[in-house]
Amino acid sequence: MSISVECPSCSVPVKVAASAKLGQTVSCTACKSNLEVVWLAPIELDILFDDDDEDTDDGLYEDVSENPYEDYQYVDDADNYDRD
Ligand SMILES: [Zn+2]
Repeated sequence: MSISVECPSCSVPVKVAASAKLGQTVSCTACKSNLEVVWLAPIELDILFDDDDEDTDDGLYEDVSENPYEDYQYVDDADNYDRD
């Protein structure tokens, strides 16, 4: 017996075994996302991310903090031109 649970990624119903356990993984047949059972009764699925997310690049934040005010001015100017 299986239950249809909406895919959190593409909203297509995904069949999950009624006896599914927390942490069990299933694949969405439509978007091929890896999904994890995060709740039972009713069963809820969440997207299971690959290990790509694990390497957070601190260098990105260093670049931004060098000139935070200049960045804000640039955004303001762009906004004004858009509404012109
Ligand atoms: Zn999907």
